[in-house]
Amino acid sequence: MTLTFEEFSRRADALRARIAAACAAVGRAPDDVELLAVTKTHPVAAADFAARYGLRGVGENRVQEAVEKRAQTSAPLRWELIGHLQSNKARLAAQHFDRIQSVDSEKLLRHLDRAAAELGRKLPVLLQINAGDDPAKFGADLADAPRLLDAALACAHLQIDGFMTIAPLGADAAETAAHAARTFANLRTLRDDLAARTGRPFRELSMGMTGDLEAAVAAGSTIVRVGTALYGERPTQAA
Ligand SMILES: *Cc1c(COP(=O)(O)O)cnc(C)c1O
Repeated sequence: MTLTFEEFSRRADALRARIAAACAAVGRAPDDVELLAVTKTHPVAAADFAARYGLRGVGENRVQEAVEKRAQTSAPLRWELIGHLQSNKARLAAQHFDRIQSVDSEKLLRHLDRAAAELGRKLPVLLQINAGDDPAKFGADLADAPRLLDAALACAHLQIDGFMTIAPLGADAAETAAHAARTFANLRTLRDDLAARTGRPFRELSMGMTGDLEAAVAAGSTIVRVGTALYGERPTQAA
């Protein structure tokens, strides 16, 4: 990574200004939205920059990569998994992550609950919902979300903080923007419905990335997951 901390700080300042403007536009307080630095594919220095700047957490999409990086730093960071998790890696993930944002099946819930029980911890999770009906994305279908939530609430060792989604890309900027607005509104409505039905807040709505964070903040996002605007383009890899 050729990025210096000074350049990183300038980018993070600019990003925080973007988030603050998006909040102001809809009458929200800027502190309502956490900036999660997405460090996937970047060296551990990327996480160290985030901590030194004062960010609370980093997002990684592969368990093994995160385990290796986390072992190389003592920076006070929360490590969150934002990528697809296979059940056979649930135990490793429960051991090494502070929160798992990508829980999308009852099978995975069972594996994580058992792993957390064995580790003697209560593991915070978000349920990933395919709120934009994207055939290329992981996440439970909107229609299946209530059942997935019921299963999650029955897991004694999991703490359900809220929901996560990724908006589908469109053929052009206008279509991408329309998909983002629809996807984020869907997740917000789902959360509000499920919160009303269960009487629990499910405060966290993890939605919005470099390209669509304004739309996400307008729809109620509480966590934006940003990589490119902080660290630059990634070498191509499967998302
Ligand atoms: C890579 C990734 C991000 C960050 O995307 P950018 O466009 O680089 O900001 C956010 N969320 C998830 C789930 C990702 O995999």
